[in-house]
Amino acid sequence: MKFKTPVPVLLSFFLAAFFGINATAIAQQERCRAGEHRLFDEAWYQQREVRERLLSEWIQNHPEELTQRTVVTIPVVVHVVWNKNEENISNEQILTQMDVLNRDFRKQNVEIPGIPAVFQSKIADVELEFCLANLDPSGNATTGITRTYTNNSVGIGGTSNVHYTNMGGKNAWNPEKYLNIWVVKFAGGVGGTSSFPGEGPLAEDGVQVDYRQFGTMNVDEPYHLGRTCTHELGHYFGLEHVWGPSFNSCCNDDDGIADTPNSCETYLEECPSHPVISCTQPDMFMNYLFYTDDECMGMFTNGQKARMLATLSMMRTGLLTSNGCGLVADTEAAAASGLVIFKNPVRETLDFEVKSAGSMQWEASLIDFTGRKIASKKISANQLQSFAVGEAPAGMYFLLVENEGKRLVEKVFLLR
Ligand SMILES: [Zn+2]
Repeated sequence: MKFKTPVPVLLSFFLAAFFGINATAIAQQERCRAGEHRLFDEAWYQQREVRERLLSEWIQNHPEELTQRTVVTIPVVVHVVWNKNEENISNEQILTQMDVLNRDFRKQNVEIPGIPAVFQSKIADVELEFCLANLDPSGNATTGITRTYTNNSVGIGGTSNVHYTNMGGKNAWNPEKYLNIWVVKFAGGVGGTSSFPGEGPLAEDGVQVDYRQFGTMNVDEPYHLGRTCTHELGHYFGLEHVWGPSFNSCCNDDDGIADTPNSCETYLEECPSHPVISCTQPDMFMNYLFYTDDECMGMFTNGQKARMLATLSMMRTGLLTSNGCGLVADTEAAAASGLVIFKNPVRETLDFEVKSAGSMQWEASLIDFTGRKIASKKISANQLQSFAVGEAPAGMYFLLVENEGKRLVEKVFLLR
């Protein structure tokens, strides 16, 4: 959360003078700087009230969306904006972040069993998944990753410049159709930032994450499990920090979500032991919308899920109709057929099925990132098929199925 400068400094001295709090401790409270464009004035609070009312109405009117929903896949483009070689992170590192997101938003992360019993019934499978885009805004095949050299060596992270190619950054892909994630170097202790839905210029819509906190490879503890991006995406889908929009509201404001107990703490660089009470109930410090160490967080609540899905359905509707995760294929074949991959990213076995009302016999090939065919076989449509991929190196692959001129392709991510 960012205060407009020089408010953080003033606030620090205010708190230091009146409460004896160390001024530098306040400066360190910024793990995340979501909401760059906010001014916490009366007008903002009025807008917030209206937005929360509309979102609540949507939630009340769409109970089925929250219980019987089809999983939505969000098309992602990752813009790597780098100055030093180590900032130009590998495809493999990017894939580890995609894997984290697809676990955290599907309640498949390893921390779930360790969440305190009192919170277990509140843990949500958010039912959002994320794909690196297969199609760019022009409809051409893409890896979903862009790479741009910047001559900003200090750290372009957290600035507006990162969103503009002519200012040393990289232009967004249409933010109404893609979730744009910029992986950059931040100069200070901040690890990420996010726009909130409906706030700020469209060209700057999306999430920024420091390259040292993106994914689970070549990253720095205690932010080494990809949770900075999970946290920022919470903001992107309309979630506030659990303690509320402002640091100094301590128990007097909150995130507007009923099932996240209000808190006065950020838990920056902390891994507390449950229970800790800062307002009236035990804090849910393992919620992704705290600043807790990566290995000590692991849940969204059902209330947060409802808020995120309402935001998606009302304020980020373009993502629902985006073809960014679409098939790279001629449309006629795609309309008559479909290639479904079960569980992607893949570790040992690539399971897939060709859905076809017409042709039954297809040729399936696994192709590596350089275009080399590493396996192929004849398969039948409408049956579960598999490739054993346990020996192949991690990375990005393509599964191609062909039949008499029809071609279907899906991107496959191999993790080791
Ligand atoms: Zn945040």
